Amino acid sequence: MRWALIGASRIASSYMIEAIRAQGGDILSVLSSDAARGEGYARENGIGRSLTDLDQLLADDSVDAVYISTTNEKHHAQALAAIAAGKHILCEKPLAMTLDDACEMVRAAKEKGVVFATNHHLRNAGSHLAIRDLIRSGRIGEVLSARVFHAVHLPEVLQGWRINDAAAGGGVIPDITVHDADTVRFHLGEDPQEVVAKAGASGMGQGVEDSVMSVWSMPSGAMVESHESFTHPFAGTGIEFHGTKGSLFARNVMTQEPTGEIVLVDADGEHAIPFAKHNLYEYALGLFKGAVAGTGAPSADGVDGIKSLAVALAVREAAQTGQAVTVNYGG
Ligand code: NDP
Repeated sequence: MRWALIGASRIASSYMIEAIRAQGGDILSVLSSDAARGEGYARENGIGRSLTDLDQLLADDSVDAVYISTTNEKHHAQALAAIAAGKHILCEKPLAMTLDDACEMVRAAKEKGVVFATNHHLRNAGSHLAIRDLIRSGRIGEVLSARVFHAVHLPEVLQGWRINDAAAGGGVIPDITVHDADTVRFHLGEDPQEVVAKAGASGMGQGVEDSVMSVWSMPSGAMVESHESFTHPFAGTGIEFHGTKGSLFARNVMTQEPTGEIVLVDADGEHAIPFAKHNLYEYALGLFKGAVAGTGAPSADGVDGIKSLAVALAVREAAQTGQAVTVNYGG
């Protein structure tokens, strides 16, 4: 498959370019708003062409798919243009700044008949695939509650628009809560109904929240507690599921790397759970390739991206108003 990158981003240079190539993809071009930076980026990453004009990039008929990883406020317009040009789309999260925009993107892709995927990496991890299998097979019984620990320390190189630019989609809620919403939906197979939340700035956020805690009620009656932050150097990450027959404790699994450990505790004691250690992004790209070939579905599709955004928007509204908010998933 032949790709173009929309956005000369760090996530592309750190993970996605390598993952695309590992799945046999060719990267033909990259779009940057800054010609000189785009040229440097293309050179450093072995990409043949850098462009500053989106229409020009999309006019290349040899490009099959685009990976959109600009700042969040740009995803909507860029995705619509790429869909209109008939390209398959792998879009970064959050899909857009508003639910209406995200729905419009996914609807347009469906009408055009192109594949639309959301880059929610966590559901591709061997750890999360193992957790989901255990939950689905009934190993912990009826799930009563879940806890997500996703308080990290944002590295200095990432302390740009994420901590000071609300217009670009900054803040920990669009950055990390969307991933946690997707991960919980993936495991439980149901969508959060109502949320309460508190958010604030604890040392990094300038005009946007850098920390948030929220509680979500699920249709099954299960309750979810979720914590995201940019300011916690030593907290580590994790996710727990507690059921009537057992509890799952997974540590250091809310990351971009295939790391962590999972322990199942039940009436027979503690059991270490083995899991596959493949690259999360390569795995997602393999499924994307299959979806384009018509032999499967992307790991997270457009509807998954809409739903994770809907939960994040509800969490932010709940934190801002102090009220419980029913999650609006749109039409
Ligand atoms: P970056 O800040 O690295 O890139 C975003 C945009 O900022 C780029 O498109 C680029 O604009 C501009 N930019 C990048 N570096 C510089 C620089 N040195 N000077 C000036 N401008 C610069 O963002 P991330 O890679 O961290 O995130 C991009 C998107 O990917 C976001 O939507 C984010 O939420 C998502 N993301 C997803 C992850 C996942 O695991 N799914 C992980 C990390 C991010 P231009 O293209 O115009 O040159």
